[in-house]
Amino acid sequence: MEKLKRAIPKKPVKLRIKKGDLVEVISGKDKGRRGEVIQAFPKLNKVKVKGINIITRHRKERVRRGADPNDPARVIPGGRIEEEAPLYASKVMLVCPNCNRPTRVGYAYREGEAKPARRKYRVCKHPDCGKEIG
Ligand SMILES: [Zn+2]
Repeated sequence: MEKLKRAIPKKPVKLRIKKGDLVEVISGKDKGRRGEVIQAFPKLNKVKVKGINIITRHRKERVRRGADPNDPARVIPGGRIEEEAPLYASKVMLVCPNCNRPTRVGYAYREGEAKPARRKYRVCKHPDCGKEIG
């Protein structure tokens, strides 16, 4: 069987979502649910969202090699472990903190900032909101 290549985009797209953002899932089994981004993977174009895309891993109990036999942390417990799996950033939308709606993200400069000091800020794309997201 041919070995499958990992689905890594050739040119990483710049993520408009970062750690700590509130996002809403727009497709897949967790559609409509919201959560906080706990990790961003710009190279993979993926994000890990708290409580979203939970997978169950069956892990065996392991003993850490070379550890002190009296150390209680020596044994890594096994069993069913539930954790978040990264999902594609295109499956989630950033929730605007001002209007509380999922939005596309635009970039704009802040008024009154001159060239060397100015930077781009993320803004809400809803025409009736348009506020800075930060
Ligand atoms: Zn907004």
